[in-house]
Amino acid sequence: MPRVFNFSPGPAMLPAAVIEKVQAELSDWKKCGMSVMEISHRSPAFLNIVEQSKAMLRKLLNIPDNYCILFLHGGASMQCSAIPLNLSSPKKNADYIITGQWGLKAYNEAKRFSKTRIISNTMEQFSTPNTSELAFNDDAAYLHYTDNETILGVEFSHVPEIDNAPLVVDSSSNILSRPIDVEKYGVIYACCQKNIGIAGLAISIVREDLLGHHQAHTPSLLEWQHLHEKNSLPNTMPTFAWYVLLCCLQWIEQSGGVVQMQKNSIQKAKLLYEYIDNSDFYSNPVAPQYRSKMNVPFTLQKTDLDALFLQQSTQAGLTNLKGHVSVGGMRASIYNSMPEEGVHKLIEFMHTFSRQHK
Ligand code: PMP
Repeated sequence: MPRVFNFSPGPAMLPAAVIEKVQAELSDWKKCGMSVMEISHRSPAFLNIVEQSKAMLRKLLNIPDNYCILFLHGGASMQCSAIPLNLSSPKKNADYIITGQWGLKAYNEAKRFSKTRIISNTMEQFSTPNTSELAFNDDAAYLHYTDNETILGVEFSHVPEIDNAPLVVDSSSNILSRPIDVEKYGVIYACCQKNIGIAGLAISIVREDLLGHHQAHTPSLLEWQHLHEKNSLPNTMPTFAWYVLLCCLQWIEQSGGVVQMQKNSIQKAKLLYEYIDNSDFYSNPVAPQYRSKMNVPFTLQKTDLDALFLQQSTQAGLTNLKGHVSVGGMRASIYNSMPEEGVHKLIEFMHTFSRQHK
């Protein structure tokens, strides 16, 4: 079976070069006579992966020395608890900007550990707020937002900058898809299974002055200070996922880094949105200035054709195009590893399908 173009929102498609490298190295990794899945997380060989992935992330995102990089269990969702536990308290307020389902989830989780406030909610409008529209609070422990809302396909094109509280961003579905100015943030966190690897590992990039302010009952595996001191190895970590992360980071670097990833994303998204906008068969609910370059939701005007569209696209080798249950329709996730060829093939299929069902 030839490899398909997998438009899944995550776990997502991996670069073909990464799959081939993993396959080639699988049974005898670095001539150690066993696979990377079988080596100790404390062995010098694995510690080398730890150091290389840290150095590579630092280089790719230009992360200053006063930020530590933590590798974590529990996906991005676990950080939704870790953030209030490390930065707030039941007495302090934590502020949230809601632009979609993931921001709302993060907010609902934070309520368990902190006082919380929603300072903006533009979820219903499929948009992001301008910084000038935000009412910042002086007493906020931090301000959280979701840079790219994976389900709605809404992405910030700017940083909601604030001076009086650390800015915390969920970058799960667009990390390493474009350069970012790390110094504008207190914390940047993301799961790996979309743009930079497979499920099982998440990362947090934390400004070091924010370490050590956790709530007393914080579980040690969620305490950033502890994780930093333990070099992100407090216990047995998902070693294979970490190795795949390193392979993906190396692939990004060899492919021209985040500047090139951004150029690719802009081009892929432009092709797809332009096609949708010029069609009267498909439509996208998001205004151009808020559109995600990673997740492109679209609906068919004739919704009774949804099932057939999905069946035939899968047969054509274009898989996982079903939209999230909460919004319906379709969604094409076009992360770093989706080649432009996949987008051309999708547009070709959409065009043929629309002509057949006019
Ligand atoms: N935030 C965003 C923006 C996401 O898209 C997702 C997963 N789709 C999550 C958080 C949750 O990630 P995880 O499943 O790794 O906990």
